[in-house]
Amino acid sequence: MKSISIIIPAYDEEMNIRPLYEKIAEVLDPFKEKYSREIIFVNDGSKDGTGKEIKRLTRDDSSVKLVDFSRNFGKEIATTAGLHYCSGDACIILDADLQHPAELIPDFIRKWEQGFEVVIGVRKKSQSDSQIRILGSKLFYKILNSIIETEIMPNSTDFRLLDRVVIDEFNRFTETQRMTRGLIDWLGFRREYIHFEANKRLHGTASYSFFKLVKLALNSFISLSLVPLKLAGYLGIFITIFSGIIGFYIMIGKYFFGWHFASTFSDAENLAIFIVFLVGIILTSIGLISLYIANIHKEILHRPMYVIRKHSDSSSA
Ligand code: UDP
Ligand code: MG
Repeated sequence: MKSISIIIPAYDEEMNIRPLYEKIAEVLDPFKEKYSREIIFVNDGSKDGTGKEIKRLTRDDSSVKLVDFSRNFGKEIATTAGLHYCSGDACIILDADLQHPAELIPDFIRKWEQGFEVVIGVRKKSQSDSQIRILGSKLFYKILNSIIETEIMPNSTDFRLLDRVVIDEFNRFTETQRMTRGLIDWLGFRREYIHFEANKRLHGTASYSFFKLVKLALNSFISLSLVPLKLAGYLGIFITIFSGIIGFYIMIGKYFFGWHFASTFSDAENLAIFIVFLVGIILTSIGLISLYIANIHKEILHRPMYVIRKHSDSSSA
């Protein structure tokens, strides 16, 4: 019998644990002849009674498992731990606050049965979103998609199903500064999307502050792309060429052709152009150094060079 793991990162969600568990148990019930289940709660160093609440569940239901962090490590790491720990032939990741509608889980499973290896929940716009948040996320995806190699669907969420092959490949990543979603997208595989409307948070408040979101956005740019690193170099090349041309033009105009226009530049202005030119050279050099750093960065991440779906001689069906 195949099995399905549910992975739930939870930080200060004490009131949401039981309702979520009941919902999941209800939607998975029709599948119980077909798939065994495992519900993994990763308690990400909650300060409230989340851990206690989960422990209570593990006592009544042996399919509930608790991964208890010693402190708060953040959702990305909590999700990663769930992926390391799970044993199912597929896993479904969802938020603990019931914003990801558990009643869609059967749809995810159906897509998986059709042969998709990654099923991604995509959030429809909701009225409660502030304009700034909408604008911010639009800008985020615009920039991200223009500087990375794989395409990321705007508004795709962490609400996802992953096949075992994807989980195993994911678990080979060793980098610690990570955005789970981005890494899953990097892996490729056959993807399918499910659109959903996010519910309101059941209890508590969202712990992603503006500052945390900015940090996550920066982290995703940096971990998925080397373009930010090369920016200084591009800027340097532009400044060097631009000020070089102007300086050269003034010089030959003044000393060789005696252009009146060239002699209107004062010494201070000429010096300014020269300094800008030097700044351009310095930035270009920084850009060169960053090319080497980019190589070191790539080596240190130690990403797999390629990702294989299946060997022709692999024993698993
Ligand atoms: N979460 C976590 N660790 C954290 C912050 C959040 O495990 O440090 C969990 C949280 O319990 C929830 C999910 O990540 O299940 C999404 O968090 P939240 O609802 O605060 O963010 P948003 O809905 O704004 O994405
Ligand atoms: Mg939430």
